Amino acid sequence: MSEPRDKDEKKKDAPLKPDETSRREFLGGAGLSVTAAALSGAGALLSGSDEAEAKATWGEWFQKNYRLMTEDEKREAVLRLEKRYTEEFGKKTTVDSAPAQEGVLFGYALNIQKCIGCRRCVYACVKENNQSRDNPEIQWIRVLKMEKGNFLAENMDKGYPDPAGIQVGGNAYQNSGVVLEGEHYYEPAEVPEKGHFYFPMQCMQCEKPPCVKVCPVRTTYRDPDGIVVIDYNWCIGCRMCIAACPYWARRFNWGEPNLPAEEMNPVTHYLGNRPRMKGVAEKCTFCLQRTRQGRYTACVEVCPVGARKFGNLLDPNSEVRKILDKKKVFRLKAELNTYPKFFYFMD
Ligand code: SF4
Ligand code: SF4
Repeated sequence: MSEPRDKDEKKKDAPLKPDETSRREFLGGAGLSVTAAALSGAGALLSGSDEAEAKATWGEWFQKNYRLMTEDEKREAVLRLEKRYTEEFGKKTTVDSAPAQEGVLFGYALNIQKCIGCRRCVYACVKENNQSRDNPEIQWIRVLKMEKGNFLAENMDKGYPDPAGIQVGGNAYQNSGVVLEGEHYYEPAEVPEKGHFYFPMQCMQCEKPPCVKVCPVRTTYRDPDGIVVIDYNWCIGCRMCIAACPYWARRFNWGEPNLPAEEMNPVTHYLGNRPRMKGVAEKCTFCLQRTRQGRYTACVEVCPVGARKFGNLLDPNSEVRKILDKKKVFRLKAELNTYPKFFYFMD
């Protein structure tokens, strides 16, 4: 479908608003056969602001899931979005559609001993990936503040009134040496805080991702370079993926994302940091708008202590492979068999 050429044409081509016709009538009138999934995916666009809704074109409503589109259809979708975002945010916006490169499987490594809890990675990620700034505030990375300590077996049955002596690994009056729950809301005067260490978490890009398995409309899937992506146009907002993710990695746009035009990053990717709409899930994509162009992720670049490393797991000379070969490495919740490609390590 070609783009409208002038204002009048644009008006003619603009979709009818819900008060002008119901979605069902509209579909009947169009005489189109669409699946419930396509309908619901388009619903995400419909639930946006009036302005965004008015700008959504017929093409966007009825396009196929991105991975099933032909190259021509993809090109069309990208042009349509570039035009819309450029107009909406008042700056020249590009929407990349670079596919995964052959021979690349992205992996991440984080030195848990080095992280100082400054959360520069969190804010760099928000800026790079066009997250909603407030109401709702969306952050893809969490940095948990953890208490340092050793779990002491001799303290396990202490603290209960005698003669209870119940072994529960922690007890009523004193803990056994370490409190395992992390905090992610903290505003210290300076970091790192005494007696604490920090545990950053984000999407692990699982090799066997539970979020993909549960998605009823297959809008989220694993690309060949190992990045688990989301086609926002097809997301029906059921939030099954959020419930299924054992790493607390997905976020949901309960409201219209708040992305001030002056803060919008105009270098985007269709499956990554392009502006999202209300009612869709989102998460870290290893900054695929950067990494598929041979650049580091924003969080790797900004980390002041070099705790974050990134590279191609298939390249034996990559930094990330060398870390896996030489350091003490662990994966979070390895027992779940999700095979994260996000590794934690110690020197
Ligand atoms: S930027 Fe680096 S040091 Fe700061 S919180 Fe993130 S990982 Fe830790
Ligand atoms: S960490 Fe969560 S969101 Fe990321 S791939 Fe794994 S299950 Fe999916």
